[in-house]
Amino acid sequence: LVSARGLQKSFGDRRVMRNVDFDMLVGDITVIIGKSGSGKSTLLRALAGLTEPDDGRIMFDGEVVFEDRQRTPVWKEVDSYIGMIFQSYTLWPHMDVAKNLTLAPRKKLGMSEAEAMERAKRSLAEVGMSEHLHSRPAQLSGGERQRAAIARALMMEPKLLLCDEITSALDPPVAAEVLGVLRRLKEEEGIAVALVTHDMAFASKAADRVVFFHEGEIAVNATPDEAFNRSDNAELKKFVDAVR
Ligand code: ATP
Ligand code: MG
Repeated sequence: LVSARGLQKSFGDRRVMRNVDFDMLVGDITVIIGKSGSGKSTLLRALAGLTEPDDGRIMFDGEVVFEDRQRTPVWKEVDSYIGMIFQSYTLWPHMDVAKNLTLAPRKKLGMSEAEAMERAKRSLAEVGMSEHLHSRPAQLSGGERQRAAIARALMMEPKLLLCDEITSALDPPVAAEVLGVLRRLKEEEGIAVALVTHDMAFASKAADRVVFFHEGEIAVNATPDEAFNRSDNAELKKFVDAVR
């Protein structure tokens, strides 16, 4: 699904991605872990088109979408298959959930209001939020807000969801519920998920791959079992001990 090669990114003289190679298969859940500042968000942002690497190439479904420091023409199309969700500020506070969900498909896909509403109801049902169609973000709990944010991403029928610490502000049981939604989307819809999280329980249970960032490099890329039980990477061990 995704294949990135040799991604580099510096801010001033600080190198935040050094020669990053990253692959994802269709329908995989990849959990990305690593210390603060190690480059996790930078990779997700590069995949989402929110930041431009200084070097390297990104392919999506076999087509080059980024090369020679710029997006290629097919990026426009691919862009709509990629949803990104953040830790906070994911919904417009002055709009109800329905409006939040229907905005992008109406604008970007030119969908009619009726069609967008139908899809909004379906998306909300998929995340167990049907009763909140007309709620405002302020009336929702943190977990509900994140589920609504996932529903909003589903409106564009993504093949890939990029999630950057979307459960970090939530209590463990609520976080588990939100992560459970992602797991179901993978299993039922075949949506691939790249997720930055400190939730090692989710990583060991639900991930197909675990990617460990260290100082702007991918230091480990393995199955959860290999990463957590059999890796001899000292930095990874230190990291896992620290967050557990
Ligand atoms: P965290 O766990 O704290 O979210 P992270 O692994 O996501 O960390 P990144 O956000 O990718 O880390 O940042 C990597 C480095 O790049 C950090 O040192 C950060 O300060 C720097 N950085 C990120 N974005 C910018 C920017 N727009 N301008 C300058 N420096 C930046
Ligand atoms: Mg980050």
